[in-house]
Amino acid sequence: MRKGDQILDVRGIHMRFNTKGLCVRAVTDVSFTVREGETIGIVGESGCGKTTLGRCIVRAYEPSEGQVLYTTAEGETIDFLKIDKKVMKRYRKDIQMIFQDPYSSLDPRMTVYDIIKEPLQANFPKMPKREMEARVMDIAARVGLNTSYLKRYPHAFSGGQRQRIGIARALVLSPRVIVCDEPVSALDVSIQAQVINLLHDLQQELGLTYLFISHDLSVVEYISDKVGVMYLGRLVEYAPTRELFSHPMHPYTESLLSAVPVADPTVKQERISLTGEIPNPANPPSGCHFHTRCRYCTGCCREQTPPYVEVAPDHFVACHRAEELKLRGFTYDE
Ligand code: SF4
Repeated sequence: MRKGDQILDVRGIHMRFNTKGLCVRAVTDVSFTVREGETIGIVGESGCGKTTLGRCIVRAYEPSEGQVLYTTAEGETIDFLKIDKKVMKRYRKDIQMIFQDPYSSLDPRMTVYDIIKEPLQANFPKMPKREMEARVMDIAARVGLNTSYLKRYPHAFSGGQRQRIGIARALVLSPRVIVCDEPVSALDVSIQAQVINLLHDLQQELGLTYLFISHDLSVVEYISDKVGVMYLGRLVEYAPTRELFSHPMHPYTESLLSAVPVADPTVKQERISLTGEIPNPANPPSGCHFHTRCRYCTGCCREQTPPYVEVAPDHFVACHRAEELKLRGFTYDE
């Protein structure tokens, strides 16, 4: 496989949770593709289903429907969600996850050395001790941890250092794809920049592919090649980063971008405020799920679910307005 070849093809993922007789649709019909070496950003408000989507992709949750087609290093395509335990053991190491909260995601009773070593022990129980130790030391040094402190416990480390431990734990198995679930949201702004730069450098060095989940649009704009915007479990817009930030087509994306501060006092920004709360996913609105908060809503929006259409190459939108623009032969100059 070469850089730029398709590595993941996420097709029609649905995730439903049944609680107290209610069916909560956390993720509905999400599809997108990822190329090797790319970073795909997934953004949206809290509760929009982005973390659930990430967990479905690494198979921490078993999705209700859908496929995650993974192209192995040998060029074989397998459905990551359908393979049995034996085959899964072989490929589990290829797709890893970095968790949101560096405070609760590390076992406080284990030393940092053991935390980083644990996945190696589980996946390669016959690996010689020396080799394992060398691997842990190498990864710890790569992520910027002081290797002489590895016998300490997580509480002795700062938030940024703990997130580096989480990154080292994900990297120790030499994965090809990493799902980063809000990896910097629990950190101070200055530390956020260090961790983002570390992820960027590791990607260049190791040829990693990232699925970067965040609610922070500035961070996503900086690190991602393409961005998907989620609302109430659905992907409502998906486009290359520059295109999405310069020509948002979905009214929800428009409002999210209007809230991002611009570091130029001469630029006048129109802030589009969303009214109302995000609706209950157990009882979503009819038609377009966004119609209760959309300033362009028409009668058709209340009744019909908008199709997810490609309005420009690689730019997909689920909105009746965007569909109309496409039918009129839309160009970005409009
Ligand atoms: Fe707004 Fe209608 Fe588009 Fe939904 S389909 S985002 S309600 S304009």
